[in-house]
Amino acid sequence: MNTREEIKTAIDRITRELGGRARLLAAVKTVPPEYINYAIDCGVTLIGENRVQEVLEKYGKIDRTRAQLHFIGALQTNKVKYIIDKVDMIQSVDRATLALEIEKQAAKHDIVMPVLVEVNIGGEESKSGIRPEDAPGFCAFLATLPHIRVSGLMAVPPKSGDQEKNAEYFREMRKIFIDISALKVHNVYMEILSLGMSGDYPTAVENGSTMVRIGSAIFGARPKAATEEK
Ligand SMILES: *Cc1c(COP(=O)(O)O)cnc(C)c1O
Repeated sequence: MNTREEIKTAIDRITRELGGRARLLAAVKTVPPEYINYAIDCGVTLIGENRVQEVLEKYGKIDRTRAQLHFIGALQTNKVKYIIDKVDMIQSVDRATLALEIEKQAAKHDIVMPVLVEVNIGGEESKSGIRPEDAPGFCAFLATLPHIRVSGLMAVPPKSGDQEKNAEYFREMRKIFIDISALKVHNVYMEILSLGMSGDYPTAVENGSTMVRIGSAIFGARPKAATEEK
């Protein structure tokens, strides 16, 4: 875990690198609330949590007046009810059962939940995300749900370490994003393309990302158990 000074330096550097081309979301799995609030003091306005448990533990301790909270991790359908009134966006919607539960819970709270469709761009069996070829149809389906607002796409490409390979995945995502925009489906808004993490965000931004999700490059290495998901 980085010191406060290291966190501030990293946020300043990344913000400079992004140069207004993409928004910075701080991915905060395992990060304690006081460090999250410090990141908010340093100018972070988007916070991303992966686990329902962490959302619940930290809720009330994070300064939500200056930052939005996005859910970015794998989400079990039966846990939607715990977070529906605590998050500003769900970035990881990848199946109809999950969407229908979000619709139901959002209706109960009389809210409209912005969502991103998670795409399994690398076609990895172990990963969540809808198949690329199914993304347009899935967006059209979501558009029929009155308490969901489709606001874009998200992906976590395979860990390769090869920036050229990652760039290809990002370009494929950009193409799907543009193709869906071109369909002009009522109630589908392709505004956010959430791509890029600590290891590849400059490549993601070069290839069309409008929101990067950065954890370790801001907060330092996570405890090992936390890095072994997805
Ligand atoms: C952990 C996580 C990130 C950030 O990963 P880093 O490599 O630490 O930047 C981004 N997106 C998702 C979905 C994550 O789970």
